[in-house]
Amino acid sequence: MKVLRKLFVLLFVLAGLAATKSTAGTPEAKKTYKVLIIEGQNNHRNMTEGTAMMKGYLEETGLFSVDVVTSPKKGGDMSGFKPDFSKYDVLLTNYNGDPWPEATNEAFERFVQNGGGLVVVHAADNSFPKWEAYNKMIGIGGWEGRNEKSGPYVYFDEKKGKIVRDTTAGVGGSHGHQHEFVVKTRNASHPIMKGLPAEWLHQKDELYDRLRGPAENMTVLATAYSPVEQKGSGKNEPMLMTLQFGKGRIFHTTLGHENYSQKCVGFITTLQRGTEWVATGKVKQDVPKDFPTAAKGSARP
Ligand code: ZN
Repeated sequence: MKVLRKLFVLLFVLAGLAATKSTAGTPEAKKTYKVLIIEGQNNHRNMTEGTAMMKGYLEETGLFSVDVVTSPKKGGDMSGFKPDFSKYDVLLTNYNGDPWPEATNEAFERFVQNGGGLVVVHAADNSFPKWEAYNKMIGIGGWEGRNEKSGPYVYFDEKKGKIVRDTTAGVGGSHGHQHEFVVKTRNASHPIMKGLPAEWLHQKDELYDRLRGPAENMTVLATAYSPVEQKGSGKNEPMLMTLQFGKGRIFHTTLGHENYSQKCVGFITTLQRGTEWVATGKVKQDVPKDFPTAAKGSARP
């Protein structure tokens, strides 16, 4: 009997503790947002590793749960590639390849139009040169026949102190040698950029330049100077951008060519913050203590 009574008391105390824990003093319930990474074709050898790294970076915030959908390989039968986008809050594209079925394009457009978030990473902005809505979503893109018909060049004019849209004829998309470069904030009040240093040294990467596109409803958050000595454009090129398409928010980062580029704490932090912003319109994540400075880069192992 004694043992039974002790057991009852113990249960009572435990139940009391559980009740206290669930009502008082708990932090605000954290909603997790569902992200779908789209991949399967990419002219980058590290596509699969990049997807896994980005999935990890997003999940470590505790804000996101991430699924991955992998398309058929290049030249494969795309007719069955119809992911159910409607189950997600955010789509992140790490895809650069063959066109999708028309129904998939329509579902993707509908998703963003109706308020779904979109994150575009590096070579994903090479995709789909002929898909009008996609190019509106990414704002600017490169290669795959892009030229003045795709839209203006966009860069930051240091003398004028503003973003310029330049309709000069020429190729859309190029890059010089990979190198470390400084990323400069051009919109410090945007939630994604708030609290970040005005300049930070990015790890070795391809510095995309001369991208072109409709560039409508687009805000350039950060640029990097593309040096002529590195065979670049000699201009301050957009690196981080936000866009609006219908009710949907979009974050476009041109960074992230290789694993070493994606291990930059600057790449990671802006990806995490950009994804939160497209999901919620706000950013509540803190800037990590090991964020790079203008003089000193910072990378994950
Ligand atoms: Zn690349």
